[in-house]
Parts: sequence; structure tokens; C-alpha cells
Amino acid sequence: MSVSVAIVGRPNVGKSTLFNRLVGKKLALVDDSPGVTRDRREGTGRIGDLTFNLIDTAGYEDADDGSLEARMRQQTEEAIRVADVILFMIDARAGVTPMDEHFGRLLRKADKKVTLVANKYEGQLADEGLYEAFKLGFGEPIALSAEHGMGLADLYNIVATTIEEAEENLKEGEAEFEAAVANLDESMMPEINVDLEEDGKGVEDGKGTYDPNRFLNVAIVGRPNAGKSTLINKMVGAERVLTGPEAGITRDAIMVPWEWQGRTINLVDTAGIRKKSKVQQKLEKLSVADALRSIQYAEIVVLMLDATIPFEKQDLQLADLVEREGRAIVIALNKWDLVKDKQGQLKDMKEACERLLPQLKGVPLVTLSGLRGKNIDRLMEAVLKVEKTWNSRISTARLNRWLTGMTESHPPPAVSGRRIKLRYMTQAKTRPPSFIIFCSRPDALPKSYERYLVKGLRETFGLEGVPIRLWIRGGQ
Ligand code: GDP
Ligand code: GDP
Repeated sequence: MSVSVAIVGRPNVGKSTLFNRLVGKKLALVDDSPGVTRDRREGTGRIGDLTFNLIDTAGYEDADDGSLEARMRQQTEEAIRVADVILFMIDARAGVTPMDEHFGRLLRKADKKVTLVANKYEGQLADEGLYEAFKLGFGEPIALSAEHGMGLADLYNIVATTIEEAEENLKEGEAEFEAAVANLDESMMPEINVDLEEDGKGVEDGKGTYDPNRFLNVAIVGRPNAGKSTLINKMVGAERVLTGPEAGITRDAIMVPWEWQGRTINLVDTAGIRKKSKVQQKLEKLSVADALRSIQYAEIVVLMLDATIPFEKQDLQLADLVEREGRAIVIALNKWDLVKDKQGQLKDMKEACERLLPQLKGVPLVTLSGLRGKNIDRLMEAVLKVEKTWNSRISTARLNRWLTGMTESHPPPAVSGRRIKLRYMTQAKTRPPSFIIFCSRPDALPKSYERYLVKGLRETFGLEGVPIRLWIRGGQ
């Protein structure tokens, strides 16, 4: 369940500061899809254990004066349209200004949950502004200091409540339909002709973002002793250089540069790659925090499994982290030299993947031996292939033809006697492929129907080994 939170307000109140605090500067994405996300930055926000989609509407300061108001209005309306909850930010030190009131009027018209946030509240200096804020008519403001990270507990409560409410809404009408879609078998998936490219995949290279000559950050993650260091040493050889920290990268993330077939591959270090003493090796546990850090700096993640040991909970945990972070994934079955019944083992592993990782259906599996340096090329070919898939862009025309086919085969359910209409679909961004569907009643669309659509997208467009994001929005 991904809830969208938008930060709205006049320039300089601290919107970007809050965005950066919740998303992390490094991950702040500037989305350039024309017409969909003008001037908006989106990313995965985190407060405590909550994750949500965070939208920052800052950026209109660049507009020339004449059009400033129009652009602010446009952005605010856009944010109102896509967000589940709006954080209306003012500067508590400056008090309520006429421009804040202007925003207040825009937001009051919207039928959305608005929470007033009084920022730069770092002491009595701002008390007056906080009281003044009540007059905007959005109830009690949250006192916050985005810069110093104060008041986040209140924000947590707002977001947590919104997520709960959204989940409740979805339950309505879901149960009966859930069962029906769950019982759909493969053969009932509609055959939809969407004029696939000759390669049969329908993958178009991402415009602008995908450059096959650019360096590529690849993380190799896995449980201790899966063979990560052995593989990396084999890849980069004895002259392995540890560089970094590079600009913008925290001190504890290290890139090991390596050339493969003319392409620069930065192998993102996990703690395990660094030299460790024998004692450390014994004591080493899977550090989810380390894994998460390297996943965040990577574009493609190789999840390394020890093929002599079946899937374990920790492997699934790692796969899940990769999916949640939106990275592309290849599964490496290492120590293949030790496997006796190679065919049987591969079949078992494939089945386990399909069953245990439905959210990453079709993820490529590569068998290899890091120790013997076998199949490293095959691993890298798979990595570059998922990179391409991760950057896929599918045209709006094609998506809408596909959507028509999908809804004709299995129309969305009627909830409380009214049919839900899926009106229009477009790809919002790549890396990972993310789609928006405009829907007459987004809250009522069952989760199971979303899964049906995601499954269909993956199959029709060959989106294997990458997370797929689907945002259901009202309006349009
Ligand atoms: P935006 O235009 O709304 O995105 O605002 P920015 O995030 O760019 O912040 C504008 C200015 O306010 C910057 O100089 C920030 O450092 C400052 N600022 C942001 N949050 C706080 C805060 O909590 N306290 C104080 N004192 N300054 C802040
Ligand atoms: P890490 O903790 O994931 O970095 O794992 P290491 O690279 O330290 O490897 C753990 C153990 O597995 C070492 O004893 C390696 O020699 C062994 N190992 C790694 N790769 C292979 C492989 O492909 N085949 C075999 N037979 N052993 C391997």
C-alpha cells in the first residue's frame, strides 16, 4: 500500500528541506516526464517504519514573475489531485502571509486531507506564528523543524493514520473479487496484441535517462559466506582498488570500479567485501542496514545465494528490500561447482523463486562459481539485460490499448452498485517502470485487480526482474 504525501506551500518555507530529510538527498528524483510531473520531485519518504511516496512541489521559484502565480496554482492542483494527504507548510517564524492565505484558499476547495505544518519552529520565537496559523482554518498545526528534525513524531501519526484509512477503504468490495481474480489461471490471461517490437518485448529505451555507455552501479548482496568477496575478487582481480568516498556518497559506501566489455561497472561495497579477519568472518551476521545502504546506492542488485543451501528467510528479506527500493535484480546461484544434481537443483530453485518472490516474477537466475570464475560473463549479460528492462519506457498509446484489452477481458468490479472505470494510463517514470492509471474511484479498486494489472504488464511487456509500480489515481 503506497500512500502519497505532497508538501505544498509558498517558496522558502522549507519544503525541500523536509523532502530531503525524509527521502535522503541522494535519492531525490527529478522527474522530467512531460505533462505528468512538472516541477515535481518524488521519492520514497520514510519516517520510522513507515514508507510512503513523497512529492515536493518546490521548484517554481525559477519561474519569471509573471507566471509564478499560475505555476504555483497548477502545481498545487496537481499535488491535490495525486496526493492522499497534503502537508500545507508555512514558516512559523514569518507568521501567516497573504501568499499562505492564497494557498489556503486553493487547498480548502479540495476534498483532501490537509495537515497544516508550521515549520522553522525551534523555540518561542515561533510561538506567535504557530497561533496565527490556526486562522488558516485547517485545525491545529503540527509544529516542526525540518532542519533540526523536530516534530517528526506528529508527522508519523498523520501518515500512519492515512495509511490505515487507505487500507480500510480498499477492503470495501475487495473480498469477493479477490477470490475471483486469485482463481484466474494463466490460460485465462488475455492475449493482447499491442504491436510489440520485433524483439517481442515491447521495450523502448528510456528517453534521456538510459545511456548504455554510462557507468553502472551494481551491488552484490547476500548472506555471509554466500561468496560475495570471492566473486568480486575474481572480477576485479588482484589489483582491486578501493576508492571513495565519492562526492555525495556517505563514508561507509565504497565503489570498486571494474571494466566489463568496455563498460565501467562500479561494484558497490557491502561491509562484507572489505577485508575481514578470521574472527570477524565467524562472527559475521547479515546486516540488513549494510545491505540496504548498498542497495540504495546501486542501480542493479545481484542477490547471491549459496546454491548448496536452500532459500532462507534472510534471502527473502534481501529480495524484498531490493523490491521495495525499486531496484532491478538478478539472482546468482553461487557455488554451482558443488551442486551434484544440477538440473534438479535449478528446477527447484526456479520453483522456489516463483513461489516465494511473486513480486519479482520472472527474475533472471544465473548459476555460477565465483571461486572458479565460471559464468561471470553470463551474470553480467543478465545484469545489463535487466538494466535495460528497468529503463523501459512504453508509449501511452500502447499502454492504453493494452488497458482496454485487460479491462474488456476482466472488467473491474462494481462496488456498492457502481462500476469502477479505468479511464487512462500512462507511464510516469522509469527506473523502475512506474505507471499511473486514472480511475473513477481509486479507493474502491481492489488490490487484487491491481495485481492482475501488474501481472499482465509484466507478461505483455516482458518486464522481468524489475519491480513494477502502479499508481491508481482519481480524476482525468
Ligand atoms: P522551499 O522553497 O519551501 O523548498 O524551502 P527550502 O527547503 O529551500 O528552505 C528555505 C530556507 O529555509 C533554507 O535556507 C532552509 O535552510 C531554511 N529552513 C528550512 N527548514 C528550516 C527549519 O526548520 N528551521 C530554520 N530555522 N530554517 C529552515
Ligand atoms: P562472503 O561472506 O559472501 O563474502 O563469502 P566469501 O567470498 O568469503 O566466501 C565464503 C566461502 O565460500 C569461502 O570459503 C569461499 O572460498 C567459498 N566460496 C565462494 N565462492 C565459491 C564457489 O563458487 N564455489 C565454492 N566451492 N566455494 C566458494
